[in-house]
Amino acid sequence: MRKLFISILVFAFLFSGCVSGVKIEKNNTPKTETVKKEKNIKETSQKPEKEISEKDEESIKPEEKKEDETTKPEKTGVLLGKVIVVDPGHGVNSYTKQEPIAPDSSETKSAFVSGTRGKNITEEQLNLMVALKLQRALQEKGAQVHMTRTVHNCDVSNIDRAVFANDLNADISVKLHADGNDNTAVRGVSMLIPGGAHIKDFAVIEKSRKAGTMILEEFVRTTGAQDRGISVRNDMTGFNWSKVPVILLEMGFMTNPDEDKLMESDEYQEKMVAGIVAGLERYFSDLQAQN
Ligand SMILES: [Zn+2]
Repeated sequence: MRKLFISILVFAFLFSGCVSGVKIEKNNTPKTETVKKEKNIKETSQKPEKEISEKDEESIKPEEKKEDETTKPEKTGVLLGKVIVVDPGHGVNSYTKQEPIAPDSSETKSAFVSGTRGKNITEEQLNLMVALKLQRALQEKGAQVHMTRTVHNCDVSNIDRAVFANDLNADISVKLHADGNDNTAVRGVSMLIPGGAHIKDFAVIEKSRKAGTMILEEFVRTTGAQDRGISVRNDMTGFNWSKVPVILLEMGFMTNPDEDKLMESDEYQEKMVAGIVAGLERYFSDLQAQN
């Protein structure tokens, strides 16, 4: 009976591709290129640890096999074995819920925000496209990548996303977003990192700052995007609940026609991913050198 229940849980997760894994609304799934690609990647995506630990032997096998394959290309790289949460911002759902912005705060914010959009795609779609490419690139370097979602429909809240990374004791959580502005001339990449108003673990803040700085530098180098700098934030639920290093990349402005068009392209997406990977490699090399 217990096994059956666990099997249902695992199935629900696999089917929905979302960490909360309870809402399945296939009908509204946008018919984009991403949806097709997800099907291939979803099979190899990592599941939350709590489910893995209780799985029977048979269902663990595919993951072991994947690890063998992904560790082959670069066995000595700094990303090998690193637990990295990739968190594509937003998701399609129709829920409204408020949640506290920090464990020590009574101030609340909406748990689900829909994000901005470009000419042809929404931010949620762009974030997922880039996240899936990032997942693949990091897995090729031997990292253990855990996705907060691999599909569009998802009711995972900002707290859920932080707790997901905490439960995994992730080495870092990388949140992917895109910006919007009423002024269509505004463009460029920004890096958001947590401040210390609610997070009391100095190491988390310091590591996030270091990772954010390096990822932003490498992103600007590979993409040529305008550098809008680093912004320290104390008001973000997804940061304040985090017990692991966390950064949020605003990849560019979907409201700027040129940048929107660039970010939609496969070629530019690969450049963005290359920048993020290079930044993470620098960050982990730096940590290693200190130890
Ligand atoms: Zn966003």
